[in-house]
Amino acid sequence: MLISIHREFLTYPIHRNIHNYGNISDNSPVNRLKKLTHYLNPFAYLGVKKYSVFFPLIFSLAVSLLSEIFAYVIVQDPNIVGIYIIFLNVATIIYFSFRDGIRGGLITTLISILYYFYIIYTRHYHDQQLTSGIQTTIILGLLYYLLALIIGYLKQRIDSLIEREGDEKRRLQAIIQQLPVGVIITDHKGRVVEGNKQVDYILGQQLELGTVTGRDTLATAKFNNKPVTPSQWPLAQALATGKSVTDKEFTLHKEGAKPIFLQISASLITNKQGKTIAAASIINDITIQKQLEKRKDDFVNMASHELKTPITSMKLYVDSLDMRLKNKDEKTSRIIEGLKYQTERLQKLVSDLLDVSRLQTGKLTFAKEEFRLDSLVSETIDELQRITPNKKIIYTVRSLIKIYADKFRIYQVLTNLITNAIKYSPDNSDINISVGKTDRNALVSVQDFGIGIQKDEQKRIFDRLYQVSSDKEKTFPGFGTGLYISKEIIKRHKGNIWVESELDNGSTFFFTLPLKNKEKLK
Ligand code: ADP
Repeated sequence: MLISIHREFLTYPIHRNIHNYGNISDNSPVNRLKKLTHYLNPFAYLGVKKYSVFFPLIFSLAVSLLSEIFAYVIVQDPNIVGIYIIFLNVATIIYFSFRDGIRGGLITTLISILYYFYIIYTRHYHDQQLTSGIQTTIILGLLYYLLALIIGYLKQRIDSLIEREGDEKRRLQAIIQQLPVGVIITDHKGRVVEGNKQVDYILGQQLELGTVTGRDTLATAKFNNKPVTPSQWPLAQALATGKSVTDKEFTLHKEGAKPIFLQISASLITNKQGKTIAAASIINDITIQKQLEKRKDDFVNMASHELKTPITSMKLYVDSLDMRLKNKDEKTSRIIEGLKYQTERLQKLVSDLLDVSRLQTGKLTFAKEEFRLDSLVSETIDELQRITPNKKIIYTVRSLIKIYADKFRIYQVLTNLITNAIKYSPDNSDINISVGKTDRNALVSVQDFGIGIQKDEQKRIFDRLYQVSSDKEKTFPGFGTGLYISKEIIKRHKGNIWVESELDNGSTFFFTLPLKNKEKLK
C-alpha cells in the first residue's frame, strides 16, 4: 500500500493570495478577527505585488488626528508630545513601507510632514522658533523619505524574488507534468515532494506525497524475480550512497494485471556547496520495448534452429561434391572453394545466433578442463594467420599459463577478437597479441591499428546485436553478436573483458580469466 498523505500537502504555497484567508461567506466573529489580523499583518503581503494607497493615506491621517487630540487636548506638554509624535510617525512609515512598498512609505512620510507644517502654522511660531521648526521638519522629512525609500525598496525586491521563484516552480511543475516518463522528486530525506501523473499511471495508483522512499513499501515490484525492499529503490540508494543510479530494471506486479517492466534512474540534486538538497528519479515503462525484444529473441531463436539443419546438410553436400569430383578444372575448384567458404560463413553466423539465444535462455553450457592458454592462443593465431596472409600477427608470450575453463568457448572468444582486429584494420597492418599474468588472473590482449572505436560506443559494443553505425563500418559484414557472446563467456568464467581504443588509431581488447577457477561454471 502506498502511504496516504494528501496531494495538497506537497503543493507549495507558490503564490500567497492575500484574499485567501477564510471562507468569504463565513461572517463569524472569529473569522472576522482572522481576516482583520491578516489584513493588518505586513508579513502576509510578502510576495504579493499589490500596493495599497488608500489604506496608508487613511491610516496616516487618522494617526495625525489622534496625535493632535492626544497631544494638545490630553497631555498638553510640548516636549513629551514632540518625541511621541516622531516615534509614532517613524513606526507608521516603517509599517507602511514594509506593507505597501515605496508608495505606502512615501504617502505616510508626506502626511507626517504636512502635519508638522500644520503644527507650525496653527501654533503661530515666529522668529527663532519658526526657523528651527522649519529646519527640524525638513531634516526629519529627509530622514523619513530615506527610511521609506530603503524599506520600501527592500520589500519590493523581496516580492519580485518570491514571485520569480514561484514562476520558476510553476514552470518546472508544468514541464514535469508534460513529460512522457514518470518523475518523482524527493527532499534530502527521501520524502516525496513532487510526482507527475505518469508515475500514478505506471504504478496504477496515486503516489502519495510524503511517501518516504527507503522506508515505505512502494509496490509489489520485483527485481530479477526477487521482491524489492524499499532500500533497493533507486532513489533510496542514491540518497544512501551519494551516487546516481542509472537504468535499473524492475518488474512491477499490479493486482489483476500483467507485470510491467520499468527502467528507473535516480540522481541527487545538490546546492552550491555540494550538499544534497533533493533527489530526482525518472521511471520509464519499457514493457513494449521488452515485448519487442522478446519477439526479436523468439525470432532469432526460431530462425537459427530452423537454419541449422539445412546449412549442416548443405555443408555435407558441398564436402561430398568436392570429394567426388576428382579431376576438377581450375574454375570448378574455385567454385567449390567459394561454395565451401560461404557455407562455412553461414554456418558460423547461424551458430553465433544459436549461442545468443542459448545465452538468453540460460542454455549455454560449459565443459571445463585444464589446458595451456598460451598454447591455445598460439594455435588460434596459426589458424587465422594461414587464411589472412596479408596481416602480420605478432605474438608475445609473457608466461606459460594453465587455466581451468571451457577450451572451445575460450577459443571462440579469441577467434572473435582476432577476426575483429583483422576485419577492422587496414591490410598489411600488424596485430599484436600477448598473453601474461597478473596476481590472480591470466591476461590476454589483442591490439590492432585500425579504425578504432569512439569513447561513447566502447561500452555498447558488448551489447547484444550492437554494431557501431558509421560510414566506415558499413563495409564490414556481421551481426554484432561476437563481442556479446565473448563478454558472456568471459563473465561466466568470472573474468573481465574490456577495450581501450582511440578513433582512427586502433583498439586493444583485453580479457582476464582467473588462474585458480576450479569451481563449477554457471
Ligand atoms: P560484428 O563484428 O559482427 O559486427 P561484434 O560484436 O564482434 O560484431 O562487434 C560489435 C561492433 O564493435 C562491430 O560492429 C564494430 O563496430 C565494433 N568493433 C569490434 N571490434 C572492433 C575493432 N577491433 N576495431 C574497431 N571496431 C570494432
